[in-house]
Amino acid sequence: MMQRFYIEKEIGPSGVTLPKEILHQMKSVLRMKPGEKIILFDGSGYDFISEFDGEGAKVVEKVLNRRESERKIYLFQSVLKKDNMEWIFQKGTELGIFEFVPVLSARSIKKDFNEARANKIIKEAAEQSGRGILPKVHEVMDFKKALEFVQEERLSGVIADPNSKKHISETLKESKMALFVGPEGGFTEEEISETKEHGFKAVSLGKLQLRAETAAIVASAFLVS
Ligand code: SAH
Repeated sequence: MMQRFYIEKEIGPSGVTLPKEILHQMKSVLRMKPGEKIILFDGSGYDFISEFDGEGAKVVEKVLNRRESERKIYLFQSVLKKDNMEWIFQKGTELGIFEFVPVLSARSIKKDFNEARANKIIKEAAEQSGRGILPKVHEVMDFKKALEFVQEERLSGVIADPNSKKHISETLKESKMALFVGPEGGFTEEEISETKEHGFKAVSLGKLQLRAETAAIVASAFLVS
């Protein structure tokens, strides 16, 4: 497979001057030779197949990236411990999550996350997995704000609730969905009922208790595909 690089600048028809970190990667790490092809993408949903000339890259073909799913899944993840949260950003990007919304819920222990690290992890996972866009990471939202956001964006809401009798596989998949996954200690009863008042469906992921990060990935995989 051709090496993919995300470029922050918009890629024009003729090509781009490659940032020096990417040039270094190509020349010294991958030892690429002029004439070799790479794929550049700028988050527009297109892939720019380009030819390396030793200094820069000339675009030879612009193609729509067809790996992006039609269905947009917004993962509303209650903030978790650093490593678990970062694992979710990485795996969620590989699975095709459209946007990540870190949420502060009643039982959240951790209250923030490192945004710069999150974006770096997402960029690398997007390059590696062939995404055409970079999933957006929002700032931390409190639970109420998150519900408002779901309403404003007209997302259909699903909340992962171990006590639900309805399995996630019975949920109708819609074009724009919000998936809420709780913190280590789970959601409170009040939070679950609040989401139901907002028209959410509470869904189970099976009879076994999953860790929050496992639940996030299992549920995302279900909804994305
Ligand atoms: N003791 C807590 C467990 C929390 S697990 C509780 O009873 O809620 C952390 C989060 O992962 C949960 O809030 C839920 O969103 C999700 N989760 C874990 N296992 C699940 C399951 N079997 N079905 C649905 N959601 C699950």
